[in-house]
Amino acid sequence: MSRVVPRCWRSGSLLALLCSGAAGAAAADVPQFVFEAYPSDVLASKQLYHQNLAAAGSAVQNVPFYLLVPQLQRWVPGQVVRVAFNGGSKDLHQRIAGVANRWITETGINLRFSFTDNAGNFRTWTTDDAVYAAEVRIAFYTDARGGNWSHVGTDSTNVNLVGGLAGQASMNLGGFDRQLPIGWEGTVLHEFGHALGFEHEHQSPAGGCDFRFEDDPGYVATTDAAGWYTVDAQGRRPGLYTYLGGYSNRWPREKVDSNLKVLPVSSAFLVGAFDKNSIMKYQFPAFFFKAEGQSPCFTPNDNRKLSAEDIAGVRKTYPPDANVAATQITERRATLTQLLNAPKASAGVRTQTEAQLKAIAAQ
Ligand SMILES: [Zn+2]
Repeated sequence: MSRVVPRCWRSGSLLALLCSGAAGAAAADVPQFVFEAYPSDVLASKQLYHQNLAAAGSAVQNVPFYLLVPQLQRWVPGQVVRVAFNGGSKDLHQRIAGVANRWITETGINLRFSFTDNAGNFRTWTTDDAVYAAEVRIAFYTDARGGNWSHVGTDSTNVNLVGGLAGQASMNLGGFDRQLPIGWEGTVLHEFGHALGFEHEHQSPAGGCDFRFEDDPGYVATTDAAGWYTVDAQGRRPGLYTYLGGYSNRWPREKVDSNLKVLPVSSAFLVGAFDKNSIMKYQFPAFFFKAEGQSPCFTPNDNRKLSAEDIAGVRKTYPPDANVAATQITERRATLTQLLNAPKASAGVRTQTEAQLKAIAAQ
């Protein structure tokens, strides 16, 4: 999924406040945050595919749906996940690779990223590709496909999804080829966390966050000169439905829900209790939460490194121990076989399931 980042700040809240101040923010306690999300065509294809998967998944024994999807999104332990770039300099590729590889070097997991070909050159991909140059295809778009976002795990090679084809970006690091934003390392770690199969920690079914979705009682709609919703004359605050629904995010309620509410399926189930220090949690301003600065979800600074729970979670997903990995692969093969033979499996679900069984057989 996407990392929620104000455009003028991208990764750190302090600068966001400076940025909103520069843009003429009215109320200091309601700063101006511009949020990003999946491009709408990517999101629509995901929602449709998950519907098809839910229909087929009911036939799978012993694996509840909330665990089925993360299982399908994992790479196979031992797999080499290739990464290619569309644009950007060699220096940029080197920096991104260096940070992304922390997921490997700091955890000891049984998985590798491959950024270079046999000649030692960084892998590249183009929109004309009919054959996958890599499983993870990075672009630096700043148009409607812009912002920072990534498909989750093997979704990047799921032909049913926009962003899953050989000639499509599966990850975007908006504008990184022009200028690296402040806190860019945290963004790279976060997006590669998605590429490894992880969803957002702040949407974890194990915890979730006490987001303040509704307006303060009696709130009178008040906007500043630019159009941002802000506190009213009595100091009552707009809730997130109002705030994010207005200028300049313009999110309908369902988009607020899909980006902030607890996910019905989540890799967080594989990890455990809610972890506010996870690299997979965004940094939100205190006014987003009911308990404001006292919220269990509130962190004063952006998470920019892997937390202890991130490391434990990825080691559980890609076990360094060969015997544990072998058991996991056996269970997964059985799950995939049930899915392939499910009476309600759509052609798309079967295609993706077959591709994953092939990836297992290749290990
Ligand atoms: Zn994200």
